[in-house]
Amino acid sequence: MTHSFQPIFPPACLGILGGGQLGRFFVQAAQDLGFTVCVLDPDSQSPAGQISHHRIIADYLDEKSLKKMAHLCSAVSTEFENVPALALDFLHQQGVYVAPLSNAVSIAQDRFAEKAFLSKLAAKTGIEPVPYAMITNEHDLSALPMHLFPGILKTARLGYDGKGQFVVASQADLKNAWVSLGNVPCVLEKKMPLALEVSAIVTRGFDDHVAIFPLAENVHKEGILHLSIVPARSLSPEAMVQIEKAAKFIVRELQYVGVLCIEFFILTDGTVVANEIAPRPHNSGHHTLDSCLTSQFEQQVRALARLPLGDTRLTSSVVMLNLLGEVWLRFENSPPWDHILEMPSARLHLYGKHAPKIGRKMGHINFLADSMDLAMQDAQQAMQILGIVAD
Ligand code: ADP
Ligand code: MG
Repeated sequence: MTHSFQPIFPPACLGILGGGQLGRFFVQAAQDLGFTVCVLDPDSQSPAGQISHHRIIADYLDEKSLKKMAHLCSAVSTEFENVPALALDFLHQQGVYVAPLSNAVSIAQDRFAEKAFLSKLAAKTGIEPVPYAMITNEHDLSALPMHLFPGILKTARLGYDGKGQFVVASQADLKNAWVSLGNVPCVLEKKMPLALEVSAIVTRGFDDHVAIFPLAENVHKEGILHLSIVPARSLSPEAMVQIEKAAKFIVRELQYVGVLCIEFFILTDGTVVANEIAPRPHNSGHHTLDSCLTSQFEQQVRALARLPLGDTRLTSSVVMLNLLGEVWLRFENSPPWDHILEMPSARLHLYGKHAPKIGRKMGHINFLADSMDLAMQDAQQAMQILGIVAD
């Protein structure tokens, strides 16, 4: 497919596959720049669909709908990695500019492909993936090296927010865990002693220009992101440089256009290992909505429209607190937002989801302050107001 590779100017229409909160922020960022937007998602209530100019409520593989999207849009991106790679390929074949392309999305949606990719690059990045083994059938269960225990069994596909994962203490636990995950292809990863979790959000433009956001320190609770803290505390300058270099190398190696997130673990002995990649903006980059000169979503819009990437500079210390469905359930659907909005440091973002569920991401708050201590104190105060237990 040939493209002119001229920038796409507003009010052209940009498309997004997936209508969750990441799609919603994409829509808002695109609209801020004067673009028209089209969301394709099977859910008629999707957070992004609610606010976009055009919405197509359909399965991701529905050809008629994809054709309609291709007809409406000058360019299309995705907000999640589980959108079928075939949908991206189909749109690309229709002649619409698609970024990222399905090669990168396919790697990120399959833990086997992802680990193979990260291992291949380790010679250049100096950063290996977590030690792992693949399990595709029952026979594989008995042939696993002892050093992988205790481990974490993860489904190869469709896992998110710690779903599709089990901690397995020993070989004896493995069979049950695998059966509970539905006998599907899995990876067994060694459970690593983590000192710190860090994510790198990096954007590559079609002209090979690369811009990286300040690294975020991420705190998870039960496998779900709880806090992102920027600048990361206790990250050594050496690890920071190593991770930033690796992230830029990876995004170029993939010939990727758009926003990519790479999660890293810093082990207790200081070693940096690579966890996983996401071919899209990431929850750990939600702070950029308020803390950076350009947000990760505006950056996604700029990359997709072949416009110059924005300045990623951090303008304030920030703590992002995720708001999960339990907060709504605790307050019978009306959490005391007035008490949160009373706090000068708090920027509240709610996603317009109607059905709160335990563990469901419903919103987040960014706390901006002159120092990390102050931002953290306010995050803790908000947790108290909302009944969120730290750990
Ligand atoms: P998801 O796709 O659900 O984000 P991850 O593989 O990132 O899955 O796992 C979620 C969280 O579980 C990680 O952020 C980390 O806190 C913990 N975790 C995952 N894998 C390991 C591991 N091998 N060792 C220690 N902790 C892990
Ligand atoms: Mg993760």
